[in-house]
Amino acid sequence: MAVHRSKDHVKHQIQLTRMEFTVFGDEHYMQLAYKEALKARDQGEIPVGAVIVCGQTIVAKTYNQVETLQDVTAHAEILAVTAAANYLGAKYLTECTLFVTLEPCPMCAGAISWSQLHRLVFAATDPSKGFTNFQTKKQRLLHPKTEVVSGLHSAPCKQLIEDFFRELRN
Ligand SMILES: [Zn+2]
Repeated sequence: MAVHRSKDHVKHQIQLTRMEFTVFGDEHYMQLAYKEALKARDQGEIPVGAVIVCGQTIVAKTYNQVETLQDVTAHAEILAVTAAANYLGAKYLTECTLFVTLEPCPMCAGAISWSQLHRLVFAATDPSKGFTNFQTKKQRLLHPKTEVVSGLHSAPCKQLIEDFFRELRN
């Protein structure tokens, strides 16, 4: 017997399923760093917060803890660099971006330099203690490959610090 095949063509509808994911931008991560700064303020610390992102993964969220830990090196950035290295199990942060609410001081710039950080994004500038006041064109404090972006979300981050010191004086 002949096998009669159905001539009906089965139409395959190929549905391309697009992976739904959200790519967050710098603004989002700086908002998170700001939230960390608020935690610092609530604990009587100078309000500085930091977040380190690797790809789309947050590998560190920290805030200044100098008073809590009674440790002058416990700046948000130093704690973030250490936390990120612990998370990644690697000492170099060549794929990472650090978001911090205040321009890093020279000590933190040193740590950031040693970490070979890919990108540094800071909000408010620090005219007295910020690392850019201590470097020259010949002598950079950061690793030569580290990209630097400043000024993002700077007004509220600066305001937070000004309010903190105003309250401290009163
Ligand atoms: Zn610092």
